[in-house]
Amino acid sequence: MPPSLPTFTASKDRWYTLILILEPDVDETGPEYRQLLNFLDGMSPDIQYRMHQEQGKVQRLTEVYLIGDTSVLQIDSMRTLPCVERVVRISENYRVLGRHRNDERPVHFDYQGLRFGQDTLHVFAGLCAVDTREHVDIMMRELAAAGQQCTRMGAYKPRTNPYSFQGHGKDCLPFVFELAGKHGIKVIAMEVTHEGHVDEIDAALEEAGRPTGVILQIGTRNTQNFELLKRVGNQTRYPVLFKRGFGITLDESLNAAEYLASAGNRHVIFCLRGMKTNLGDPHRNFVDFSHVPAVKALTRMPVCIDPSHSVGGRRTGPDGILDVMHVTAQGVIAGANMVLADFHPAPSKALVDGPQALRMSELGHFLEDIQIAREAFLARQALARRQEA
Ligand code: PEP
Ligand code: MN
Repeated sequence: MPPSLPTFTASKDRWYTLILILEPDVDETGPEYRQLLNFLDGMSPDIQYRMHQEQGKVQRLTEVYLIGDTSVLQIDSMRTLPCVERVVRISENYRVLGRHRNDERPVHFDYQGLRFGQDTLHVFAGLCAVDTREHVDIMMRELAAAGQQCTRMGAYKPRTNPYSFQGHGKDCLPFVFELAGKHGIKVIAMEVTHEGHVDEIDAALEEAGRPTGVILQIGTRNTQNFELLKRVGNQTRYPVLFKRGFGITLDESLNAAEYLASAGNRHVIFCLRGMKTNLGDPHRNFVDFSHVPAVKALTRMPVCIDPSHSVGGRRTGPDGILDVMHVTAQGVIAGANMVLADFHPAPSKALVDGPQALRMSELGHFLEDIQIAREAFLARQALARRQEA
């Protein structure tokens, strides 16, 4: 006997989201799954549903998001639907990306064989803007020699001044992707400022035989460009590195990130990059890395820090440590999961942000300094866990 299907009843609380978490590795060809789909297709037109699948190393997880006037659905009956293991009800903000009560959804995703989670750390050192093939080649070779698999490469640059270099755009993509393949770079963070850039990147990767992967970066000037977010969120081939808006509240930035997830892409990394205020002087922006643990507590996103655009210079303190390395360590010791940093083989020749770029000779130092901070973070976390026990 198939289980009876839920009935519709009214309630005042209309606009919460229900997430049906299906049994792992659910059989999509079986009669029970068909029965579930029949129920979903027969729901009121005021409720939309979207399936989301997460292929992990050991199992495939499927979640069904019910969005709209879900008040007519009874949670207890939803639990009895075929293939459903658990039902989570969310009425707070950041419904998909947020961390909620009784919420055991994953806090990581896999891309290009690498894991991006709230417990991992990756460094994306690289060029703020691609200029010459030679510089891309040097950068990737040195990164690979230092054991790195990720980089940053700007092809489309949003510039304050219309007469400044705007980036080489799609023309540089073939050699950037070819060189990434040559040096074993698996993931490139690359900003897009227009939906057409996603198609250009996709076409160039396809043409090159997909020798590498791309994380699409949304810059701080586009944090609330909702139409761009919907378009970038409406594809799941590429994860997204989403920058905090430099002049809006954290809540507004997290809501904007949720646009990506509500459009279908939840593989989002949230990047802190400093806030625009004179209180940040003498740095380019007011460094906001104290928000690393706050964003990890409010959401399930891995958190990135961008020390280059936060500090925006190369001043060394009396302790002999560069400000940019100090703030990197501050973010990492607070549990950051990714570091995005500008490097350049010849900063005086860089077409964008040369003054803040670290030199290739500083790469080893930078990585070792990050390792010290990471180990300190892990020791602090272990200490806190011992106190809890
Ligand atoms: C960048 O990372 O190159 C960049 C332009 O950053 P932001 O959007 O944070 O200014
Ligand atoms: Mn830059």
